[in-house]
Amino acid sequence: MKLASLFKIAAAAVVALSAPGMASAQKLNVVATTPDLAALAQSIGGTRVLVKALAKSTEDPHFVDAKPSHIVTLNRADVLIEGGAELELGWLPPLLESARNSKIAAGAPGRIVASQGIKMLEIPTSFDRSKGDVHSMGNPHFMLDPVNVKIIAAQIADHLAQVDPKSAGLYQANLKAFNTKVDAKLIEWQRQLAPYKGAKIVTYHKDFPYLAERFGFEVVETLEPKPGIAPSPAHLAKVIGTMKATRARVILVQPYQNRKTAETVARQTGATVLDIAQQPGAMKNTTTYFDLMDRIVGTLATAFQATP
Ligand SMILES: [Zn+2]
Repeated sequence: MKLASLFKIAAAAVVALSAPGMASAQKLNVVATTPDLAALAQSIGGTRVLVKALAKSTEDPHFVDAKPSHIVTLNRADVLIEGGAELELGWLPPLLESARNSKIAAGAPGRIVASQGIKMLEIPTSFDRSKGDVHSMGNPHFMLDPVNVKIIAAQIADHLAQVDPKSAGLYQANLKAFNTKVDAKLIEWQRQLAPYKGAKIVTYHKDFPYLAERFGFEVVETLEPKPGIAPSPAHLAKVIGTMKATRARVILVQPYQNRKTAETVARQTGATVLDIAQQPGAMKNTTTYFDLMDRIVGTLATAFQATP
């Protein structure tokens, strides 16, 4: 082979190794406000993304402990996914202001608001924030309905493709695989919960209405009188009355909610307190959305079966 040809081959190899190679090795920094959105971003972004959640899996998504490290994370983000509908109203805006990152500014391709496109439940007809209610725009805990998650996954794929067009095909392929799995698992989850249609439960916060609606059970009361407001003795007396009247036998409590209050109510109603979490990672072996839903559906089915 002529020397000139060898040079050409070598030069081509260097180009192949360096420029495009380096560019494709650079993953997108995707930041999600909560671990459930982060798990979704990981499923859609796959090998092209480095995903971080701001809130811990055991932290109340309404009241996240804002830290300086969150500002650094947001400053380096290529994409931000938030729940929206004021879920993060109490902590995200000041962090964003300090992070000064135009890539994730409102309206930028790098900013994803999950609530857009979701049919919100419990939109209040009138609202007074001064009373402390944190669900001013409807209920922001829509991730427990797998149908909603498909809408959000599509939104994530769309935005990732805008930010990183050369990987658009990968994001579409990941989205397709994700949706196929959701469709299959939804049938399985519905089958598992079908025997308990109409089952009555109580939750600490209004965090399970989407799950209840999708799978056909009923949240008859919440221990909080309004979302974000601590239970009062008068309200708990009302809850106990409702539980006795409706024979609600299960009280769902998340890691950051006051289990003692739930136990007090359970003692007076013969109900069972059920530890559950709506964020992946808070319960053992729940990394993906599917792990999480498997665990939630399984836990509920077991509890309903034990408390007829
Ligand atoms: Zn809430």
